Amino acid sequence: MTKWVYLFNEVKEAEKVAGGSWDAVKALVGGKGSGLLDMTRAGVPVPPFFTVTTEACNAYQKLGKFPAGLWDQELKALKAVEKQTGKKFGDPKNPLLVSCRSGAKFSMPGMMDTVLNLGLTDVTAAGMVKLTGNARFVYDSYRRLVEMFGSVVLGIPDESFEQPLHEYKHEKGYKLDTEMTAEDWAQMVEAFKAVIRKEKGFDFPQDPYKQLELATEAVFKSWNGKRAIDYRNATGISHTLGTAVNIQTMAFGNMGDDSATGVAFSRNPSTGDKKMMGEFLFNAQGEDVVAGIRNTNQIETLKDRMPKAYDEFMKIAARLEKHYKDMQDVEFTIERGKLWMLQTRNGKRTAQATVKMAVDMALEGLITKDEAVERVTPENVDTLLHPQFDNEAKKDAEKSGKLIAKGVNASPGAAVGQIYFDADMAEKMAKEGKQDTIMVRPFTKPDDVHGMIASKGVLTSEGGATSHAAVVARQFGIPCVVGASAIKIDLEKRLMNVGEIVVKEGEWISVDGTTGLIYVGKIPVTIPSIEEQVELMTLLKWADEICARKNIRSATDSGPTRGLQVWANADYPKDAQRARSYGAVGIGLCRTEHMFFEPERLPIVQEMILADSSEGRTSALNRLLPSQRKDFDGLFEAMDGYPVIIRLIDPPLHEFMPDEEKLLEEVVTMRVKGETAGLKAKEDLLESVKGMHESNPMMGLRGVRLSIVMPEIVEMQVRAIFEAAADCTLRGIVVKPEVMIPLTGTVKELDWIQPRLERIAAAVMGEKKIKFEYKFGSMIEIPRAAITAADVARNAEFFSFGTNDLTQMTYGYSRDDAERNFLITYQEQGILLKNPFQTIDRHGVGTLMQWAISEGRKTRPDLEVGICGEHGGDPDSIEWCHMIGNNYVSCSPFRVPIARLAAAHAALKHRPVVAKKPVAKKAAVKKVAAKKVVKKAVKKVAKKK
Ligand code: PEP
Ligand code: MG
Repeated sequence: MTKWVYLFNEVKEAEKVAGGSWDAVKALVGGKGSGLLDMTRAGVPVPPFFTVTTEACNAYQKLGKFPAGLWDQELKALKAVEKQTGKKFGDPKNPLLVSCRSGAKFSMPGMMDTVLNLGLTDVTAAGMVKLTGNARFVYDSYRRLVEMFGSVVLGIPDESFEQPLHEYKHEKGYKLDTEMTAEDWAQMVEAFKAVIRKEKGFDFPQDPYKQLELATEAVFKSWNGKRAIDYRNATGISHTLGTAVNIQTMAFGNMGDDSATGVAFSRNPSTGDKKMMGEFLFNAQGEDVVAGIRNTNQIETLKDRMPKAYDEFMKIAARLEKHYKDMQDVEFTIERGKLWMLQTRNGKRTAQATVKMAVDMALEGLITKDEAVERVTPENVDTLLHPQFDNEAKKDAEKSGKLIAKGVNASPGAAVGQIYFDADMAEKMAKEGKQDTIMVRPFTKPDDVHGMIASKGVLTSEGGATSHAAVVARQFGIPCVVGASAIKIDLEKRLMNVGEIVVKEGEWISVDGTTGLIYVGKIPVTIPSIEEQVELMTLLKWADEICARKNIRSATDSGPTRGLQVWANADYPKDAQRARSYGAVGIGLCRTEHMFFEPERLPIVQEMILADSSEGRTSALNRLLPSQRKDFDGLFEAMDGYPVIIRLIDPPLHEFMPDEEKLLEEVVTMRVKGETAGLKAKEDLLESVKGMHESNPMMGLRGVRLSIVMPEIVEMQVRAIFEAAADCTLRGIVVKPEVMIPLTGTVKELDWIQPRLERIAAAVMGEKKIKFEYKFGSMIEIPRAAITAADVARNAEFFSFGTNDLTQMTYGYSRDDAERNFLITYQEQGILLKNPFQTIDRHGVGTLMQWAISEGRKTRPDLEVGICGEHGGDPDSIEWCHMIGNNYVSCSPFRVPIARLAAAHAALKHRPVVAKKPVAKKAAVKKVAAKKVVKKAVKKVAKKK
């Protein structure tokens, strides 16, 4: 018989069935269940419980009913819990009450269902009143059960219960729930029961076992509820995992003023500081804290009222953090002075906190540096380098009265957007209206998550740092401010106001999740400096150290045994400087044509293109040479000591010319108006532009083909590169120029052009009487070049994969049009899993790359290989580059930090397995030798005797 249920003391059994690994235990009994089992084993005070497995949930989804044996096992486990607690389910004399909570392998906070206080009925409620002498507490708990059971299990809308409570309070003249007496709550129990009768046509079950059965089923069903599915889609959690169900003895934080309940993080989840952060409420149930409807107390203040429970709690939290080697998010309840731990899990945190905690924990010795690097994701790094509000602009906004409120800085970052007051609108406007939105609510609930994810920022007027809005925003890296109580939200009129200032739906605000400040209007943003982010710099240094390890790649791989280096694509000295400050150790692509577009250079370029003789071209080019030389000079200077790959001109010439249609229009207008001055020149220009027209310009006269048809351009470029390099060398700068020839399709092209260019290089060095290292190499962008790489490597001293063109030409998709025309449909239909222009298609394009590397290195074993297409900054593609033996990846300067981390992740993931044998053998040999010595000694002694 399948074991569907694990009791609080059955951690070993769970490990055995799951197959040993803790991850498998989590998959079997869920994150929450495994945490409870583990805490119980560690002697932490956990209310007795049992867990129904995720397998039972999956079986239920298949069968549409409980699988055979499940209910019997639940009943048996319940008996064991009764024995442990000394209470009995349904017994009026000493009733056991339980909670029934979901708990999947990966935490999905608030996305599935929970029912508390199961076991309360008219009879047990009366019994509990006798037992506790606290009728208010009992009827408050009972009405919560009827309400939760009605909404969660029976699907009755919340409002059906909120309405009668609201009316009742109004009649009595009450403002707060705390004004409700025992008698009032008892009345509400009856009112809520009547709601169920009216809505469903049957009574709230007075059989506690029926309550438990239906609650278990409701949790199973909530796995496939809309918000759970949305959440899984957003976080990439598999839909097939299923949820476990935890049935646990209720501990009551609402038994009076000696009771409390709260949630806490063992470190600050927003900043990462090593200081516990938590909130709690006296005389309340857990949901009151997270819902953000009552103003909570800071955890430190518990010390004054309940010093013993506080000390015990702090000790346990520290122990749990040490045990799990990570920041813990714990839930606790104090029932009449006795502390109970209800849950622990690795806490969600901001990107900033992720990095800080990882670095701090490694420095504290809690985890290794490698583990610290593994804990941070490329997305975390991306978030940290996201724009933030400009300081000066903030000051100006403050002066001009645009700063309207301050709340709790729940999730850092700057958000500017139009406000919407509900999740559906925020999502709709963000998706359909294609605009930046900010969702504004009094507080958020799990049903709001889709709106939050679609928004650039979230603002609430209620709730604290552990409220739902705060937790979810942190998880998704959405800037968020909560509890901005100065802001009054009028959901009916669709506006918010702070005193006189009114902001209507659709108007712009700026939300600073880092400081908690809220402004009306748009505040400009800036890019944060990486140097000021000390922990990030440390972590990336560790990432580089991993890649620099001598044997991080196995010796059997082709090429390098160290990990990847990260270079950058930079066209101008200022980009190169940024790239260096972000940690790039080379320039992998300088697109020289960008320099031709500068306003003062373009006319000379056009003159060069229009010249009908080689002399005419050379004369124009001679005027361009000094500015090109200056460009390269700046690049070499910024990259002192590091390689700089300069690509010779690549695009078709028509890109430098005026638009044909526009020219035609101008000519026609001049003719119609009878303007003659300048008409002939315009007409000639139009004819030349027409003459350049190609049906497929991307496959036409560009790249190396252009260099062969018009060698004067690249000859000028090579002269400029080497003159700049020589001048820099004379100034003491170490230059490593690498000249890259684009769009090679056959080695014959290189046979034709390369010797001419190398002669110029040699000539310049001769003229300047100086020598320095340099390389000539080729881009691999055409499948034929990849296939014939062994030949290409005869000339090319390096390869750089231009994966933008290589993807275009391998798939035959136009890189400029495919996304717009059909790629989205292809992805929706599952024809393509990922956009191949973002992530390398390993099976096709990737395999061509792999082939090219191994063939190229057959000809030239020390062939340097890199990538400079957009994929160079994509973590998945970076992993592939590591696997196939690239020396480096090159990407935009802004992505360099992400690429450094991704390169380290790839290195760690694929590091060669080190055999432990030799140590063990040595030890074994020593042991045998020692035994022999002892034997000899014994023999000697025996002989002597
Ligand atoms: C490429 O094709 O990948 C490349 C880097 O060149 P470009 O994008 O300039 O064509
Ligand atoms: Mg290209």
